[in-house]
Amino acid sequence: MAIFRFEALKSAANRKPVAVEEIGRKSELFGANVFNDKAMRQHLTSEAYKAVRAAIEHGVKIDRKMAEYVALGMKEWAMSKGATHYTHWFQPLTGTTAEKHDAFFETSMDGSDPVEKFSGSTLVQQESDASSFPNGGIRNTFEARGYTAWDPTSPAFVYGTTLCIPTVFVSYTGEALDNKAPLLRALSTIDVAATEVAKYFDKNIKKVTPTLGWEQEYFLIDIDLAASRPDILQTGRTLLGHTSAKGQQLEDHYFGSIPTRVLNYMRDLENECILLGIPAKTRHNEVAPNQFELAPIFEETNLAVDHNSLLMDVMQKVAERHNFKVLFHEKPFKGVNGSGKHNNWSLATDTGVNLLSPGKTPMSNLQFLTFFVNTIKAVADYEELLRASIASASNDYRLGANEAPPAIISVFIGEQLIKVLEELEGVSTGKLSPEEKTDLKLNVVGKIPDVMLDNTDRNRTSPFAFTGNKFEFRAVGSTANCANSMTTLNAIVAKQLMDFKQEVDALIAKENLKKDEAIFNVLREYIKQVKHILFEGDGYSKEWEIEAEKRGLSNHKNTPDALKAKVSQKSLDLFEAVNVMSNKEVEARYEIELEEYVKKVQIESRVLGDIIRNHIIPTAFRYQNVLIENIKGLKEIFGKDYEQYADEQIKILKKISEHINQLNAKMHAMMDARKEANALTNIEQKAHDYCNKVKPFFDDIRYHADKLELMVDNELWTLTKYRELLFTR
Ligand code: ADP
Ligand code: MG
Repeated sequence: MAIFRFEALKSAANRKPVAVEEIGRKSELFGANVFNDKAMRQHLTSEAYKAVRAAIEHGVKIDRKMAEYVALGMKEWAMSKGATHYTHWFQPLTGTTAEKHDAFFETSMDGSDPVEKFSGSTLVQQESDASSFPNGGIRNTFEARGYTAWDPTSPAFVYGTTLCIPTVFVSYTGEALDNKAPLLRALSTIDVAATEVAKYFDKNIKKVTPTLGWEQEYFLIDIDLAASRPDILQTGRTLLGHTSAKGQQLEDHYFGSIPTRVLNYMRDLENECILLGIPAKTRHNEVAPNQFELAPIFEETNLAVDHNSLLMDVMQKVAERHNFKVLFHEKPFKGVNGSGKHNNWSLATDTGVNLLSPGKTPMSNLQFLTFFVNTIKAVADYEELLRASIASASNDYRLGANEAPPAIISVFIGEQLIKVLEELEGVSTGKLSPEEKTDLKLNVVGKIPDVMLDNTDRNRTSPFAFTGNKFEFRAVGSTANCANSMTTLNAIVAKQLMDFKQEVDALIAKENLKKDEAIFNVLREYIKQVKHILFEGDGYSKEWEIEAEKRGLSNHKNTPDALKAKVSQKSLDLFEAVNVMSNKEVEARYEIELEEYVKKVQIESRVLGDIIRNHIIPTAFRYQNVLIENIKGLKEIFGKDYEQYADEQIKILKKISEHINQLNAKMHAMMDARKEANALTNIEQKAHDYCNKVKPFFDDIRYHADKLELMVDNELWTLTKYRELLFTR
């Protein structure tokens, strides 16, 4: 009997590294398939070029006539790169990216005059008159068709034979239906808010741009082995499988030498990245076997988010060429590390300054401290919202699982900066004496650069850590679209900076304080208020959970609980105040995310049930029959003495029966729980039921199935095992 598992193992074992075509010098080819500044200069009239630049830099709307010129140039360029089709490329709330390809090719009705066409209106898809469409409730809005609109701030690119135009996706009534629209709003609000504050320190600053450098972790599995597992195919993770004897305990994978087959995949992938303008920079092994990471050079946030979404798509496509499947899931394997997507975040000015980087003068350090403390204050005030921004069914398996940041949000800043904050806290109220000012400048603020140099301590267990010149949001899941976390982070910091500006200005106006005195005064108050969010210890420890609870920090261990914060009054007010999302948009998102959660758990539950019935139980029966035959034979030969020879067989037979009984009972109980959950119409209740009544069966069921895996003859076992999935490369 041929078992798919063995066929898959055989083809996986015979794989040879797939050769990679060399593309040439990266610096010359970078962005070759991107309609970037250089391509625009070459292919657009100078008027059209100026119009696009104005749109990128100042958000100036491109008029219809100009759009025609841009479309024309873009089409010519794209066709010179081999494009035959175009698509409005967008990031819907479910899934990673969406696209519908249309050909440039057109003919008139009778088939004459075939041409390649691409009009300005097709490029831009300008707004239709919203008033002619019904403005229904949330559900109606979200089920209604929306339209996509060109985002000129993220350049178009050619991928394969398609011109991809990054777009936002909104409903006819103007509500955001995607990840990009709210992100763009948040980026625009924080630009204004941060610029206002930055002007305290440098009047020349006109624009502040949030930067993002993500780090993408992933697993690579042989494509046939992946196909041999129904759970990996349908849920992206293993629902069953006994831990292999060797896992990651030898710590021999992290930064180890990269296997040739994988290295070729990475090189091929990097070549694609270079052509697409994704600045891939580092590649290395991660902690778990077959786990790897790719990180780019950081970019402006909107572009970085687009690039991460594009990358995830490209990764899977390139993997096929190398007979791999990429697992992006946060926890594909039990017992080995899961994957995250650290979001490194900072604020850059148009004068070339990183606002979260300490400078050389006391004034630039005060600027650093201002943005540093305000960010911490924003996280302290909105930790629950930040937690909600990274909640997903798959990230639930990773957060708090003793190898990833816990579900509690805290901020790590390092011992030295803690000391700096302590000294600032001691600043006296109101006007400062000349002595105090000098002391502050020389001994507190002035010392930061020295302090930072030897601030090498890094706390890997912190979900939100300051790492020298940026904050690193580490709790983001590897499957996530960065837009969700980045929209939230930029929104809360924007709100905080707006409040800060008001407070400082009020002190200057009412108390007649000097600007720096006012800033010191406000910062001092903030430092007193944020202590509960600062944590330097082991974030994985049980003690921290207890301590965090005392401090009043939230600790939502699952998605339905965590998401709730999104629709709290505080959150609704925030998103409205920073002009990022209307209440209706936030509420709609909440529902969509709950629905997504339900669907994910539902699919897992169904797949698990199928595997138990179609794989585990039949295989266990088959092995029982082998044992029964064996025992019968022994009885035939040894007569009534057979039991002493069949002792082990009988024991195993009994054990297998017990596990089968348990499996069957639990599987049916899970199905009943699922039926009950499915009958619920309230999505909140349904999500809670799936979380608290259906999902708990997963571990119970797995326990018995994994025990059977250890007992049943390896030759009969149909599911590819952990040792095979993790160590074939
Ligand atoms: P690690 O955190 O793995 O030790 P690094 O600290 O060198 O590595 O950087 C990790 C990521 O941080 C990289 O993707 C890099 O592009 C990004 N990064 C560095 N500086 C900034 C910044 N100012 N803003 C945003 N991201 C940044
Ligand atoms: Mg990192």
